[in-house]
Formats: sequence, structure tokens, C-alpha cells
Amino acid sequence: MLQVYPVLCRAGYMDNYAYVIVDETTETAAVIDPSEAAPIIAKCTELNITPQFILNTHHHFDHVDGNQELKQKYAAKIVCNAADAPRIAEADILLAPETPFNLGQASAEIIDVSAHTIGHILYYFKTDKILFTGDTLFNLCIGGIFEGTPEQMFAALNKIKTLPDDVLFYPGHEYTSGGAMFAFQYNHGSEDIKNYLDRARRRLAEGLPVAPVSLGEEKRCNPYLEATTLQDFKKLVD
Ligand code: ZN
Ligand code: FE
Repeated sequence: MLQVYPVLCRAGYMDNYAYVIVDETTETAAVIDPSEAAPIIAKCTELNITPQFILNTHHHFDHVDGNQELKQKYAAKIVCNAADAPRIAEADILLAPETPFNLGQASAEIIDVSAHTIGHILYYFKTDKILFTGDTLFNLCIGGIFEGTPEQMFAALNKIKTLPDDVLFYPGHEYTSGGAMFAFQYNHGSEDIKNYLDRARRRLAEGLPVAPVSLGEEKRCNPYLEATTLQDFKKLVD
């Protein structure tokens, strides 16, 4: 069983989520996308956890800036896509997409979703039905297309759409509020989007992440996942 502990970083201005994850069977732990070290160290101390790995989805500073401090403190290994190694300092384990990464007895498929950046990957713990989407998929919106093309982002999202509806996804930022109004209008105020927004409002009011949401619900509510043709998708990102 994989346990996931979200850690809000750069709160109030970038609202990154890092995640401390633990394979409970073997008590093997990792950190995903450490935007900054301090809040993650606080969470690891609270949980009495020593992460052995630091997993990065992509090279942007707001996902890797905590890497080195955590590597030093915990003697953890930095793990990233081999394609990103030139841009991520001190990387130790280089992943080839399609070759799984094992965390204790848990196992993540590595899915290349080059678009936000070239080399961006997702960590998909298939057995646990947990997906970390970095800056590719957010709640009710998607990441900007900085290095790739709309065609590549459409292909990336289609890879996500082929995953089962009961998979829970954990994004790289708390951007739900940003996507809410557009998603509500796009879906003509459907029951699905009303329920989504009601829960989001309650979660945020309690200071909790909106994540995780199931891919099934996201597919029904996120306009960027609803677009079924490249032409329709391009209208949303142009
Ligand atoms: Zn990014
Ligand atoms: Fe980011």
C-alpha cells in the first residue's frame, strides 16, 4: 500500500505540491517534486520518515529547488528522466520512460508526457491506482505548453485519458480556483461540475488540497480532457 502525504510549498504565491510517499509494506519513502526543502523536512520529521529517493517530474525550479538540501540531509538519491539529467543537478538514477521505478514493493510506470517541458514524466503507481501528474494535469486545468506543441500536449493528455477512471491523481500545484470559472462555464453548470466545485470549496476552506480527484471525475469536468479532437483542443490553448 502506498501512502501519500501532500506538502504545500511556496504557499500563497506558487502553491506547489510536493508529496511524501511511503510504501507501507517495506517502509520505503520518497519525496516527489521538492519545491523547497523546509516544509518537506518538517513533514518527514512529523512522520518520522527518512526518504531514500527524490523523484522529479520535470526540471523547473519550482519542482527541484529542494533536491540538494534533501539529498544531503537524508542521503537520498535524485531520480529523474534521463532526458532531463542535463538540466537537473546531481541526478543519481536516470529513468528511461517505459521502464518502471520500484519504491520498495510499490512500482511506478514512467510515462513520457513531453509538452509542458520536453522530458516531463508522470509516475503511475498502477497497482495502487495513484498518478502524479506534475505540471501536465491540474484540477480543472492543465500546465502551460512551454517547450512542446499543442499537438504534444493533446497526445500527453490522451495518454492520461486511457488510464482507468478509478485512478486518483495528484498534481504539482493547487490551481483549482484558477480553472473553476472556465470549467463551470464550459460544462454549462452540470451536476458533475457543481459537485466538483462544492467539494473543492469545502476542501480549500479547511486548508486541504483539492487533490486527489479520480480521473473519471476529472474527465467529466476538466475542459482540456473533454476535448476529443486536436482541433477542439487547440481552441482551448490558442
Ligand atoms: Zn513546471
Ligand atoms: Fe510548476
